[in-house]
Amino acid sequence: MIVADEPVSALDVSVQAQVLRLLESLLDRRGLSFLFVSHDLGVIRHFCDRLAVMYLGRIIEEGPTARVLDQPMHPYTGLLRDSSPVPDPKMRLALPRIVGEIPSPAAPPTGCHFHPRCSWAEPTCRKEAPALIDVPGNRLLACSHPLKEPVRPALGDAAAGSSQVYPTTTRGIV
Ligand code: SF4
Repeated sequence: MIVADEPVSALDVSVQAQVLRLLESLLDRRGLSFLFVSHDLGVIRHFCDRLAVMYLGRIIEEGPTARVLDQPMHPYTGLLRDSSPVPDPKMRLALPRIVGEIPSPAAPPTGCHFHPRCSWAEPTCRKEAPALIDVPGNRLLACSHPLKEPVRPALGDAAAGSSQVYPTTTRGIV
C-alpha cells in the first residue's frame, strides 16, 4: 500500500491529470492500494473508492465516495462539500461557510468535537462524544443527530466535488 499525502495539491490541473494517470497505471499494473490524503473533493471523487472524512484527527464519516459526497450525513461533511465551488457558471450560489475557528487538537471541545461550530448541535452534543457506528449503506458515522436533508441538494455531476477534468473511474481510499 502506498500512502499518498496530498500528491496533487498546488499542481496545475494538467499536471494533476498526468500524476493521477500515473497513479492509476500503477494500480492497474501492480495491483496496489492507496491511502490517498487530499482536500480536493473533485480529485477524491475521481480517484477514491471509499472516503473517510476527518475532523480534529478523528474519522467522523466513512463510506463509498459517491454516496458520502452526494448524501452526506455528518453536518461537517455536508458543509465541507457545500462550501466547495461548483465548476459550472450556471450554478452560481452563495456558498455556506463553516463558522468559528478550528479548536486546538491538544484541548478539544467536550462531547462532539464539532459542536461549537455545528448548527445542528443539541445539549447532549456538548456532553457525549458520538461513537463511530455502522449505518445503512455500508457507511460509518459519528453523529448523534445526522442530517436528514443535505445542506445543499446534490447537484449531480456538476456538484462540488465532481471532476470535469478527469475521466470518471474511481479507485483508492482517502
Ligand atoms: S453530534 Fe451533534 S454537534 Fe456533533 S455533528 Fe452531530 S449534531 Fe453536530
